[in-house]
Amino acid sequence: MLCLTLTGKDCTESISQYIQHKTSVQMVELRVDLLKCINKGQIQKLTEAISIPKILTCRRVRDGGSYFGSERARARLLNSLLDLGFSYIDIEEDVKRPDLEKTAHEYNVKIIRSFHDLEGVPKDLFTKIVKLRRRGDVAKVAVTPKSINDVLLLFKVKHELREIEDKVVIGMGDYGIPTRILYKLTGSLFTFCSPDGTPAASGHLSPEIMHGLYHADSVNDDTGIYGIIGNPVMHTSSPKIHNPAFRRIGLNAIYVPFLVDDVRGFFQLAELLSIKGFSVTVPHKQQVLPYLGKISREVKLIGSCNTVVRYNNLWKGMNTDFYGFLKPIQEELDAQRIRKAVVIGAGGAARSVVWALRNYYCKVVILNRTIEKAKKLALETGSEWGGLTDIDKMDHADLIVQTTSAGMPPLENVNPIETYQFSGRELVFDLVYKPKNTLFLEKAKLAGCKLIYGMDMLVAQGVLQFEAFTGFTYPQDL
Ligand code: NAP
Repeated sequence: MLCLTLTGKDCTESISQYIQHKTSVQMVELRVDLLKCINKGQIQKLTEAISIPKILTCRRVRDGGSYFGSERARARLLNSLLDLGFSYIDIEEDVKRPDLEKTAHEYNVKIIRSFHDLEGVPKDLFTKIVKLRRRGDVAKVAVTPKSINDVLLLFKVKHELREIEDKVVIGMGDYGIPTRILYKLTGSLFTFCSPDGTPAASGHLSPEIMHGLYHADSVNDDTGIYGIIGNPVMHTSSPKIHNPAFRRIGLNAIYVPFLVDDVRGFFQLAELLSIKGFSVTVPHKQQVLPYLGKISREVKLIGSCNTVVRYNNLWKGMNTDFYGFLKPIQEELDAQRIRKAVVIGAGGAARSVVWALRNYYCKVVILNRTIEKAKKLALETGSEWGGLTDIDKMDHADLIVQTTSAGMPPLENVNPIETYQFSGRELVFDLVYKPKNTLFLEKAKLAGCKLIYGMDMLVAQGVLQFEAFTGFTYPQDL
């Protein structure tokens, strides 16, 4: 079940939030600590207006909530609301209020015994869950993973504590996002989300994302798990490429972002969850190489891998950036209209771009802020090199490709070749896709150049990844 945490400052706003999202969620949580003024009459109106199961919670500041009052006052408050038709009440691990528990049971309200750790994951997590379940009808732990190995531990709960059915395991923060989306694979009964723009806890996603994009509530033991690993990774647009396509072709599969600090830990998680394939982004494109049993020609050439698929019990590495980059300029290449190309930058993306262009025998000049890096890539690929001020080396370029992170926040006001004057006849390609228009592209547009956007490459490489993952053609109408 998806549980919507109501974050309205009053009950009227919370009811509107429920009405807006009622087709996406199966449960709500009323956090009375978030209400500006607690009025039993208003809360009764809310419980009457919402017919699905409701959790009553009053979260303390130390557990990530907003309640400042005394423990005695909090227990009194919760006690006074138990006759309003709630299905569950959340009572924290340390609270010893037999009277509150007794009233809850009198009104048939189940007790969720919860534990919160805003700093990390306790070493005795499994024991804690067992103890919580003994003292309540549902055991709930909301902890803060600080690495992919912590996330691995949270996913192990399902198997290790399979005899405890009534539990909720939540990883907060960015590392925890996969535990929220794939909550059923942690063995959880339900997971939480909150209305867009008002997350009630760190890492809460909106119902539009949890249900609309991921269909988190439809995951089952047969769901094929795919994802993307990176650091950072939460800005990625790739879930929007893959998840709608899985649904369009009727494939029971999901694609989830994993924040990964340690590639080895992720490969262990990939085994545990039987992950079928994943995309790789900065800074792991080289770090995955030692774990691959098979690599494509492009990975061998470029020395970097952005796509990994399970293939006959081996991990096979591919590089769809290589072909994703070529796709938007294929016609020009086939017509041999690109004889000389200038590549700005010499990082990971530039490696794919330069190798792809050299495969078409284009003459390539690499200009980079750190000249040594440009020289190294140039020597590997048979190209020329220079610094960002060597604009004389750009003369007669048919194609200019911007591959640096300049143009992307926080460098949105940087044009790496500020002094270059476009002639207007160059084809100009910027790999940055957020924002769509960079200073570099705007200057090229003013000169009358034909532009190619980073999003075109992102989509092209994503489509190829989808085909590598599933074996199916990407749905054309998407
Ligand atoms: P990377 O390996 O970290 O390389 C970064 C490059 O940017 C290096 O050449 C670096 O120069 C240069 N750079 C950084 N800050 C600069 C500045 N202030 N001025 C001038 N140059 C600067 O990163 P990457 O993986 O190559 O990614 C680079 C960009 O490509 C990112 O924006 C990424 O989103 C984009 N990308 C897009 C796609 C797509 O599908 N559209 C695919 C892959 C990558 P130094 O060597 O001097 O540090």
